[in-house]
Amino acid sequence: MNNTKRSGSAEHDLVIIGGGCAGLSLAGRLASQGSRLSVAVLETRSDYRDDRSWCFFAPPRHRHEQLVSHRWSRWLVGRENRALIERQSRRFSYQYVRSVDFYQTHLAAIERHPLIDLHRSTSVNAIERQGKGWRIETSRGSLTAAEVLDTRPPGRAHLESAMLLQTFKGVEIELDQDGHLEPDCVELMTQLRHDRDGLYFTYLLPFGTRRALVEVTRFSNRPLDQDVLDHDLHTVLAQRGLDRHRQIRREAGCLPMGLPDAEASQPGIVRAGMAGGALRPSSGYAFLRIQAWAARCLQRLQSGGPLLGQARDPRLQSLMDGLFLRVLADDLSLAPALFSQLFERAHPDSVVRFLSDQAGPGDYLNVIRSLPRRPFLRGLCLSPNRSWSVAGSS
Ligand SMILES: Cc1cc2nc3c(=O)[nH]c(=O)nc-3n(C[C@H](O)[C@H](O)[C@H](O)COP(=O)(O)OP(=O)(O)OC[C@H]3O[C@@H](n4cnc5c(N)ncnc54)[C@H](O)[C@@H]3O)c2cc1C
Repeated sequence: MNNTKRSGSAEHDLVIIGGGCAGLSLAGRLASQGSRLSVAVLETRSDYRDDRSWCFFAPPRHRHEQLVSHRWSRWLVGRENRALIERQSRRFSYQYVRSVDFYQTHLAAIERHPLIDLHRSTSVNAIERQGKGWRIETSRGSLTAAEVLDTRPPGRAHLESAMLLQTFKGVEIELDQDGHLEPDCVELMTQLRHDRDGLYFTYLLPFGTRRALVEVTRFSNRPLDQDVLDHDLHTVLAQRGLDRHRQIRREAGCLPMGLPDAEASQPGIVRAGMAGGALRPSSGYAFLRIQAWAARCLQRLQSGGPLLGQARDPRLQSLMDGLFLRVLADDLSLAPALFSQLFERAHPDSVVRFLSDQAGPGDYLNVIRSLPRRPFLRGLCLSPNRSWSVAGSS
């Protein structure tokens, strides 16, 4: 491995700011590959909890399959008060990685490595140039490094400049009695509707007949009060007869959909993860995109090269995502019909490949044909550079 010391007078070859999905993906890979680089990962949190579920569509065999704790072969989509659309694929299933399994795997590899250290309870406050490298000021003192990878999530102001915000809140529950959940079938987007707080849908991952993650999601043009999602969650649990339960854990998030461009960073500092553009604009999926970046970045470091940022999306994919988001952001009331038509009319494999960055020309055609023409023709006339205010007034 040609990743010998490059730090010169600096204390570390590499400092990774943020030990979340992107930071640990790279540090864990460097550790398990026996890298000779000295690396410090600086992380605000003091401990790692099961704080999120990472799901994605994938074929049965893939590089991260040992982390997958659950798979579903069927998925449901449907509008409120309408029949559900059930889909399945012979090639793909919907798969679930518990964040705690991911964290433990990478933390264990880092722990075993003599030159890679994770500093918990350490917040980075400032980064400045020092000679050819960097000086990083943290809540626990300063350190120096030849290279810096910054994975801190985008700041609130930047987040709110997204075309749409995807806000969600969920609870993993164990029911007192059989909840008649279908363990083989995930509710991807059910009870789809539009109201004054934007698009709403339910997301339900059953882990058995009595255990599930029940999540409520909204797409909106403005940040939402927590009360809105609390009310949504309370309502769905009651409506579905799932309110008598033991709570196992909760999770919540607000993901930007379609940030104008990656947040400006200091020249020379590479950004990765959500802040580096890892979030797929039209879906909010990022886990596999981060894994693909980490694998490429590791390869680059192994060959003695500098850090690598997140790859740009293929042109056609980013045009499609931009158009899809513009149509949604322009009139969110169309969203329930658009999503249900997409899943109902397009071949499931095409939809899955479209959502998983693997679409070919035939898949794009399939997806385009499934959608109503008029809003998309109108969407083509909306300028891609049109700025979207968070209040939804554009
Ligand atoms: C609840 C939830 C569920 C999700 N589910 C899915 C899913 O199913 N599928 C999917 O593909 N994507 C999903 N995502 C989106 C995406 O995959 C995750 O947000 C992912 O964690 C992004 O990785 P990241 O490294 O960019 O950010 P993070 O994992 O958030 O890591 C950033 C790290 O930086 C640390 N940090 C912040 N500020 C500082 C500072 N000043 N100094 C030091 N450290 C700092 C944070 O503590 C954090 O650990 C989900 C996101 C959330 C929030």
